[in-house]
Formats: sequence, structure tokens, C-alpha cells
Amino acid sequence: MDQAREVDRLQARAREDAGDGADLGGESVIPCRICGRGFRFLPPHLRHAHQISTADYRRQYGIQASERLADNSYREMSAERMRLMLADGRVTLDHLPKAVEAACAVTRLPPGAKRADGRNADHAREYQRAYKIKRKNRVGEGK
Ligand SMILES: [Zn+2]
Repeated sequence: MDQAREVDRLQARAREDAGDGADLGGESVIPCRICGRGFRFLPPHLRHAHQISTADYRRQYGIQASERLADNSYREMSAERMRLMLADGRVTLDHLPKAVEAACAVTRLPPGAKRADGRNADHAREYQRAYKIKRKNRVGEGK
């Protein structure tokens, strides 16, 4: 299948780019703040060349989570690779509802707890759900 070949080509390219020889000179790249070299995708370089995790690198250099460690072409290529894997069924999103529920369960206050502003957490959650549904329906009306 052509799609499978395309995925392989993109993956090979990603491996090439992730390698330590991925200094791309003039192209748009993410500069490493340790050695100054530029990369389309920084994390593998940090791990291999400097033995530092992405989390430690961000902490050490005060880099916000919102600041990207991959350039746009790398991000687009990754997105395209994921679209192809979703299209041919190699990847599914079946796990997402469970994962979202698990993530919410970790951060959710226990039943009967009060939020920081003193409101009942259960009531606040119900209100949020009702509000989201109301908003969603309003958007659906196309107003
Ligand atoms: Zn470096």
C-alpha cells in the first residue's frame, strides 16, 4: 500500500532528523542553549549530546512548556505521519475517553470537597458541565 510506504519514508526522515548530525545551517531550526547548534527537533540531541532530559533542560534554562522544541516543518511532518497511521488503522483513538477520565480522576476533588474559592466542588462541576452543554448547543444553532 502506498500509504504504508509514505509512513516508512516519513519515519526514516524523522530518524535522520533526530540524529546528532542534524545541524541544518540556514534552515529554520531550534537552537540548543547548551552548545548553540540548531535542530529541527531538539529532545534527542539533548538526551544524546548533553545527557539531559527535556524537563531538566526546560527547568535549567527557564523555558516555558508553551515554547516549542520542534520547528514547524517537523511538527507538520509528525502530524502528517499520525494522520496516515490513523487513516490505515495502525493507530486508533479508542483509548482517549478512558485516558481523559483517568486524568480527570487524578486532579478532581473528592466528593463533598470545597474549591479554593469556598464553593462546593460537586456543584461547581455540575454547573460547568451544564454550561458547556449549553454553549455547545448554542454554537450548533449557528448564531
Ligand atoms: Zn547542544
